[in-house]
Amino acid sequence: MAEAVTQEGITEVGTMKRQHYSMIINGERVESSTGEVFETYNPAKGEVLATVAKASKEEAEKAVQAARNAFDHGKWRKYPIGKRARVLNKIAAIMRERFKELVEIEVLNSGKSVGAAQVQINQSIEDFEFYAGAIVGHRGEVNNMPYGFFNYTHKEPVGVCAQIIPWNYPMMMAAWKIAPAIAAGCSVVVKPASLTPITAIILNEICHEAGVPEGVVNTIPGSGEVVGDYLVQHKDVNKVAFTGSTPTGRDIMEKASGTLKRLTLELGGKSPNIVFEDADLEAAVPGSLFGIFFNTGQSCEARSRMFVHESIYDEFMEQFVAKTKKLKLGDPFDKGTHVGSIISRSQLEKIDAYVQSAVEDGATILTGGKEMQIEGFENGYWYEPTIIVDVTPDMKAVREEIFGPVVVVEKFSDEKDVIKRANDTEYGLGSAVWTTNQARATRVAHQIEAGIVMVNSPFSAFPGTPFGGYKQSGFGRELSVETLDLYMEDKSVLAYYGSKPLNPFGV
Ligand code: NAD
Repeated sequence: MAEAVTQEGITEVGTMKRQHYSMIINGERVESSTGEVFETYNPAKGEVLATVAKASKEEAEKAVQAARNAFDHGKWRKYPIGKRARVLNKIAAIMRERFKELVEIEVLNSGKSVGAAQVQINQSIEDFEFYAGAIVGHRGEVNNMPYGFFNYTHKEPVGVCAQIIPWNYPMMMAAWKIAPAIAAGCSVVVKPASLTPITAIILNEICHEAGVPEGVVNTIPGSGEVVGDYLVQHKDVNKVAFTGSTPTGRDIMEKASGTLKRLTLELGGKSPNIVFEDADLEAAVPGSLFGIFFNTGQSCEARSRMFVHESIYDEFMEQFVAKTKKLKLGDPFDKGTHVGSIISRSQLEKIDAYVQSAVEDGATILTGGKEMQIEGFENGYWYEPTIIVDVTPDMKAVREEIFGPVVVVEKFSDEKDVIKRANDTEYGLGSAVWTTNQARATRVAHQIEAGIVMVNSPFSAFPGTPFGGYKQSGFGRELSVETLDLYMEDKSVLAYYGSKPLNPFGV
């Protein structure tokens, strides 16, 4: 067990000192007008962790109006850029001071291992630092113009942004969205996932503590179908940034079209992991292992379809299976734990149904394939890391996103063929290539239909690297300078400075 954190309002391991979380609107803690609250869980134990105020449409409206007012009449977007950057750095500094507490709450609310939570909270902090730096140098263009004209582009914040996030990286997804939006000068209404709302609420409180004016960041936990939908269709919301499943993304795209909102969609994936015959197995085996089982496979860019060259297949698989069996599941606060729990009972059942469907379709399970019982965590949601072979491309488990610790493995013999097979998916988010041949790495990277290609790397992203999908994995990029442009409009200012007045009609 990690040692208990004892600051005020923080957790002791396994128990929350603060047992209720309010939504945040216009800089204030707010309860629901309907009086509704919902329970949020510690999935590792299947126990209630805290209650959370549940926003209704009334609070969604208040949050949009607070954000609108802050944008239209407030000072945030008018601050000198350096001042906004200082506040972003202050947010990062406060998060760093409260690192241990944030990690602990993330572990309790998501069931992920403490190591995974540390990496993700650290990256969330670095996001704010990255955008504090990036916004300072983010400026428009001056264009060469003929005939005495002068043209420049003026970058302006897009306005009020609804930011709807999933449960798999609760704090990190909130940081990926809030940091670039407020750096750009926008106001936001954040709708966290109902399974994991706590760290997004705390992040909002930290924003205020750091000096973000009221109304610029608002957080309203609640139902996606009710408040998420309300935000997506609201005429005063200029942009929706959504991370979540592809079906929800499609629904949002349709509904946002009524008011022609700007839209960023970060959706699901079924990313290929290709191990060539010239791969360094000392890197490829642990890297592929991490690629699928990190965050308990609940990762949009999880490398869940593995292709291994036939000439090294036996050797690779022997090591891969052996290492999979060595992965330790258990107390998420134990530093030796590699893999945490599944987020919910229904997600566990969904994962298991995929595994069983593969078996019914004729596939073979090499290891895993069932729910686990962990001593001391008997009521939690645990699933064995699972490797499936003898699969065919048409199987449900091969085509659809499982979003759990399950990998399907296929053999290949030829580079062209494996590229074709890797691209045979509706998704296009992540991909990984393991080879010691640099020319091959580049050749393959450029032919894969995905927004991200990892070459000999278990990691998919750092602040500064664009993150986003091709095809049904959505569009737009997060985490990089490109993201700032998705929260800004480029206004073209065209001026005439010629010596003679212009008279185009000649009258
Ligand atoms: P989800 O689509 O069920 O929910 C995501 C968010 O959308 C939640 O906050 C939910 O309340 C809200 N929502 C649900 N229905 C809505 C509606 N009709 N209108 C507006 N909002 C609505 O996804 P999830 O199960 O929370 O997350 C898992 C999914 O997220 C996976 O498919 C995963 O691949 C994807 N994901 C993608 C990325 C990426 O960067 N591409 C990152 C993390 C997760």
